[in-house]
Amino acid sequence: MASVRTLGIVVRSTDVFETSSVVTIFTREIGKVSALAKGARRLKSPLQGGLDLLDVSDIVLLHKATEALDLVTEAVALERFGSLRRDLAALYAGYYIAELLSDLTDFNDPHPRLFDAAAITLRQLGDPLLRSRRVLRFELACLRELGSMPMLDACAHCGQYVEARGDTFAFGLATGGVLCPECRPGQPHVATLTGRTLDAIRILASPGNDWRDLDPSPSALQPVRTTLGSIVSHLMGHRPRLLPFLGV
Ligand SMILES: [Zn+2]
Repeated sequence: MASVRTLGIVVRSTDVFETSSVVTIFTREIGKVSALAKGARRLKSPLQGGLDLLDVSDIVLLHKATEALDLVTEAVALERFGSLRRDLAALYAGYYIAELLSDLTDFNDPHPRLFDAAAITLRQLGDPLLRSRRVLRFELACLRELGSMPMLDACAHCGQYVEARGDTFAFGLATGGVLCPECRPGQPHVATLTGRTLDAIRILASPGNDWRDLDPSPSALQPVRTTLGSIVSHLMGHRPRLLPFLGV
């Protein structure tokens, strides 16, 4: 049993016994862990306030290599995201990020870049104009980091460059991206995307700041929201609970 100090974001918390909690923490160093926080809900507990949902905390764990729960021995909140307490839309977006981290990542599988992307996104959710695009960017970062990034230029099936038909593309939601006309027949869960929607996804997936110049109107962003929501749902095996609460 090793003692590990790490940054972590609590993505789920369940009360157990009189005063304890079982928390799911997405940590920067060792990935997702499930841990017992003994007495965390006692008023004078040293863990009090260090394990609130969606805070970034400095956490010390007794980490078990087996299936058993880890044990939280220290937890201090380093960063609280005020907008999540003031703004319901920001809070829903924060919960959605927590749901993705909780349900898409595996235990003990670290993804420090995904941790950093989550912290940056949570920090910025108070800006209503950019919020939707930030959440979409986070979803794409999540897909890339977990090896499920859809193909956006070459056919997901045969690898050939795909040209638009008219102005539309066949896009396999379960098979990983754009499909050429030869490969499309017989593929399940194929959506039809306009060139504009596919371009928006490309820009949101790219580094740099071009995504800030994307048209933020619902008519432009809604098809992107629908497409990424469907990809995430396929990956998760069900529709994320918070997905219906996200606006565009
Ligand atoms: Zn093909």
